[in-house]
Amino acid sequence: MSPEPRFITDRMLGTLTRYLRFMGYNTVSANGFEEGNTKEDTLLLSYAEREGRILLTRDTELAHRGKDRAVLINSDDVLEQVQQLVERGLIERRLVMDRCSLCNTPLRTATDEEIVGAEYAPQDLTGFTFFWCSQCRRLYWNGSHTKQLLERIGQEK
Ligand SMILES: [Zn+2]
Repeated sequence: MSPEPRFITDRMLGTLTRYLRFMGYNTVSANGFEEGNTKEDTLLLSYAEREGRILLTRDTELAHRGKDRAVLINSDDVLEQVQQLVERGLIERRLVMDRCSLCNTPLRTATDEEIVGAEYAPQDLTGFTFFWCSQCRRLYWNGSHTKQLLERIGQEK
């Protein structure tokens, strides 16, 4: 599957956005834009065009305007949304965890200081790998909750 697709999502697709980021896909969300822009659809379209991103939307009219660059998402259920993108050959079911699910920034390996200073971290640090978002100053690690997420992503509907 090449080249690696990049996405831009409308405001209806917040959960899907986080899933795509957990799966390692570079995804910009309209939720990151200032609210109240009456021309937001046009903004999304030009952003997608400029950066070569695929526009994912629940809005029929916007999908129509986006032509080949847009995908109309059919379901409100995030697992069905993932399924639709897999069936379209756009994404693979995988858990990469190389980017922040909140802000899309690439994660790097966390330093000991960051792990110790983090608000949330496992009590026992053995057996975990830790990552850090320098933008949100948020600690990520692979452990039981990522295993659950992977199971959800991997589950065929
Ligand atoms: Zn972040």
